[in-house]
Amino acid sequence: MLQSIPREDTYLHKGLRKQLIQILRDKKIKDERVLAAIEAIPRHYFLDPAFERQAYEDRAFPISADQTISHPYTVAFQTQLLELKKFDKVMEIGTGSAYQACVLAELGVSLFTIERQKELYDHVGKFFYLRKYPNIKRFYGDGYEGLPSYAPFDKIIVTAGAPFIPPKLIEQLKPGGIFVIPVGEGAAQKMLRLTKDATGKVTEVETGDFSFVPMLQGKNK
Ligand code: SAH
Repeated sequence: MLQSIPREDTYLHKGLRKQLIQILRDKKIKDERVLAAIEAIPRHYFLDPAFERQAYEDRAFPISADQTISHPYTVAFQTQLLELKKFDKVMEIGTGSAYQACVLAELGVSLFTIERQKELYDHVGKFFYLRKYPNIKRFYGDGYEGLPSYAPFDKIIVTAGAPFIPPKLIEQLKPGGIFVIPVGEGAAQKMLRLTKDATGKVTEVETGDFSFVPMLQGKNK
């Protein structure tokens, strides 16, 4: 899976990525910086070499520990909702393969990402491509707790389906901040975009239906 030895990014891969960008445009992803980040990142690096070509189809794939790398559309949609600015301090829950993390880092933010599965956390630590992004800080922990010692954050993104909005994550959002989280148990989740105003009041908007692996409680060894 994620490998310590650099892999190749050929003209074929770059061509397939251009086609993927067109698919994302057709699905109404409009933020040019998000599209440029996805075009820059070799998604096939994050998948088993057996899936090289399919890496640029708009579909999710299995990674280790029964988890998945999200659809490119889902990654693009969530990233677009965050309205990122360079140097934003961002927390991600659910590092997984670190693909979404790299898309965020490519946009110049300072990223703090948490994974509860030790196997995945260790795996990503050996992944050669992460050396490109010193602006990613990784943590092995429980996303329901967030990272109180690094809070507050300008933006927060959850990449697993949460049964409810974790209150500690709302606390760790800055006034003026944006928090994107898929909420719901079972097969489908509603993507929520929460904003906190200067007085601390939180407003919630529903933006569509998605399907994620569940956000689970506690760490897993
Ligand atoms: N962003 C990832 C998506 C991975 S799937 C990517 O681009 O590949 C969701 C991930 O969330 C899984 O790796 C899962 O282990 C992790 N996860 C689930 N519940 C969590 C929690 N409470 N804290 C941290 N990570 C969690």
